[in-house]
Amino acid sequence: MIKMEKMEMPSMMNSVCPMTPMGVKGRRSGGGGGGGGGGGTPDLASFFECPVCFDYVLPPIFQCSAGHLVCSACRPKLTCCPTCRGPLADIRNLAMEKVAGTVLFPCKYSSNGCGSLLLHTEKPDHEDACEHRPYFCPCPGTNCKWQGTLEQVMPHLLIQHKSITTLQGEDIVFLATDINLPGAVDWVMMQSCFGCNFMLVLEKQEKNGGEQFFAIVQLIGSRKQTEKFAYRQVHTSVLELNGHRRRLIWEATPHTIHDGVSSAILNSDCLFFDTNTAKLFSENGNLGINVTISMVCGK
Ligand SMILES: [Zn+2]
Ligand SMILES: [Zn+2]
Ligand SMILES: [Zn+2]
Ligand SMILES: [Zn+2]
Repeated sequence: MIKMEKMEMPSMMNSVCPMTPMGVKGRRSGGGGGGGGGGGTPDLASFFECPVCFDYVLPPIFQCSAGHLVCSACRPKLTCCPTCRGPLADIRNLAMEKVAGTVLFPCKYSSNGCGSLLLHTEKPDHEDACEHRPYFCPCPGTNCKWQGTLEQVMPHLLIQHKSITTLQGEDIVFLATDINLPGAVDWVMMQSCFGCNFMLVLEKQEKNGGEQFFAIVQLIGSRKQTEKFAYRQVHTSVLELNGHRRRLIWEATPHTIHDGVSSAILNSDCLFFDTNTAKLFSENGNLGINVTISMVCGK
């Protein structure tokens, strides 16, 4: 007969290690959306819980010489194994990595109501776009660290960012003053129409030695709302520069504040132009962007 190695526990396990909050259950263990529930099927995902932060230990998976796992975020901060205080050797656990590839893990925002179960390879993309991810303060250029739910975004803006102008109407002019100010600058205003609020952002960035402007319309709403609004309609926004017998137009579905402006800028998925173009349309250093929002039938 083979001796059951599992039953042997290091004698110090329960006593000394300060890193493992013994008796504290992982935050996912009791949460909803785990699937299964009753019955004897083990919750495989729980075997991958990091003993320090309760996030999941995902490939590449390293173990201590006694076989304990710790996640890759906690590992560099530790000098010894949080479970047995043994050395953190560079031992890969290929079997656990293989198992990890078949397990469905709950989304990081399961405690906020997300019921998605995902392969670990799908987790990062899902969590970036997850409807249940907290919203960050959408004001660019401020160091505001606020985050909260979608419903809390407008109250936050009205209380903490009072200086932002709001214009009512479907057709407004977003006037950016002093566009020749050097360096990175953001201009922000709000547009309110169709019972919705939109944040308009003009951002100037230094790129490849030159300066570029990016103008973006963002719905204070979720991605689902930008994709399909009530009555199967979607918003469309038109950004237009006009002047001196020239016209530059960008028409698109508004982005959502959930995604932030940086991904739109990175993908040039917005109205963008350089300083020479800006000069063609500006007057006395001020640039007026016509912003028109309308509702069109979605697919
Ligand atoms: Zn961890
Ligand atoms: Zn250990
Ligand atoms: Zn999710
Ligand atoms: Zn803020």
